[in-house]
Amino acid sequence: MSAKILNGKEIADGILANLKKRINKCNGSLARHPKLVVIQVGDDPASTIYVNKKHEACQEIGITSEIKKFPETISYADFLMEIGKLNKDDKVHGILVQAPLPKHLSHKQVYETIAVEKDVDGWHPFNHGKNLLGKKGIPPATPKGIMTLLEHTEVDFIGKNAVVIGRSNIVGKPIALMLINAGCTVTVCNSKTKSIKEFTKNADILISAVGKINLITADMVKKGAIVIDVGMNRNAEGKLCGDVDFEKVKEKASWITPVPKGVGPMTIASLMQNTINTCGEIESCLLSK
Ligand code: NAP
Repeated sequence: MSAKILNGKEIADGILANLKKRINKCNGSLARHPKLVVIQVGDDPASTIYVNKKHEACQEIGITSEIKKFPETISYADFLMEIGKLNKDDKVHGILVQAPLPKHLSHKQVYETIAVEKDVDGWHPFNHGKNLLGKKGIPPATPKGIMTLLEHTEVDFIGKNAVVIGRSNIVGKPIALMLINAGCTVTVCNSKTKSIKEFTKNADILISAVGKINLITADMVKKGAIVIDVGMNRNAEGKLCGDVDFEKVKEKASWITPVPKGVGPMTIASLMQNTINTCGEIESCLLSK
């Protein structure tokens, strides 16, 4: 039997519609309107697409949004100064620095200078620490979106074997921690892992966050597994695709995310949720109504 499709686009649209309704309810009675600033350095075309998507989502639901563009030649000191200004600006609730950055601006360092309470990507070490401890902080957007997708399947996490392929700080490690906190037994694989198939074929939940076309083939997947494809790749025809051999794996899995319309839209929806939560005004307004 073919897997059910975990349609991230539909689920994300539902989240955004709900956020829009909540913001609309409070319009006119907010002391501070939620505002996101997205920073882009240079003119990388892929970054421009992602930045515009975030801006459009803000506009759609009623979050004030500003794109700040800086030339690739901006010095490290000037860049940190710009972030410092946004940290102090009480009209700004969320700050996001679009990756990739030029080599002289270390993304890791930059993220440590964003005010913890405005770190809507959830990449500041403090927010990573909160995630590690299973405490309420600002969760990293993509892993948060993945957890929402998994919850949609109504899976009981307790005792499930979860295998995460990829150990990046923004996807692999934080989603592994979320799954541990949810009660799964988690294995994290990387580029040096020997015989990945030995791990994946026992996975009730399989998450691939690598960036390699057809890395996950049907023979690597347990029958009935939930398969989440985070990868974003371009095939020979320039078409967007994930890490998973979707057509064959869907015949074996119980649930599967497509690419596109899978994890990508959920990242944006989570980012919008994070921005509204960091502002806090909507929650207080709705409670007072
Ligand atoms: P990354 O920082 O490049 O990490 C990739 C990870 O994959 C590394 O840990 C690497 O291992 C591992 N890896 C590489 N080749 C492997 C192999 N053959 N077998 C097993 N593991 C392998 O990438 P990322 O930022 O986590 O992103 C991963 C993918 O997700 C990319 O395609 C990216 O575009 C996509 N992504 C999508 C979204 C979304 O919203 N849809 C968000 C973020 C990322 P080592 O550590 O050993 O090098």
